[in-house]
Amino acid sequence: MHELPVTEGILSTALEAAKRANARRITAIDLVIGELSSIVDDSVQFYFDILSRGTRAEGAILRFRREPATAICRDCGHRYAAQVPLAPLCPACGSARAQVTGGREFYVESIEVDHDEDSGSPADSERQRSGSG
Ligand SMILES: [Zn+2]
Repeated sequence: MHELPVTEGILSTALEAAKRANARRITAIDLVIGELSSIVDDSVQFYFDILSRGTRAEGAILRFRREPATAICRDCGHRYAAQVPLAPLCPACGSARAQVTGGREFYVESIEVDHDEDSGSPADSERQRSGSG
């Protein structure tokens, strides 16, 4: 259920970036999801298709990259990939005092845009001063 507000965040981030880049259209969005986060890819794409209608992100492809979780042993400092379910013991020293440091992130890594430069129509020159505040 929490994919809806998450998707809204993705869309506004992407639209903001596209505006800054003077892009006509967003063709793809690269997302990073931590392996321990409970975001469902399909739900995000589903909401995105609905929310992006009529915006320059309409039809954009979402590409998901799963970021593995990392654990650091508090006893020996060994860093290892934490799988789901988490390995209970440090593979280096056998300690159970591990701290999980990643795997819950969710963010927009980059967007791919279309500048639509090859259409030879003289652009309506709209000059706008946008004060960024
Ligand atoms: Zn250890």
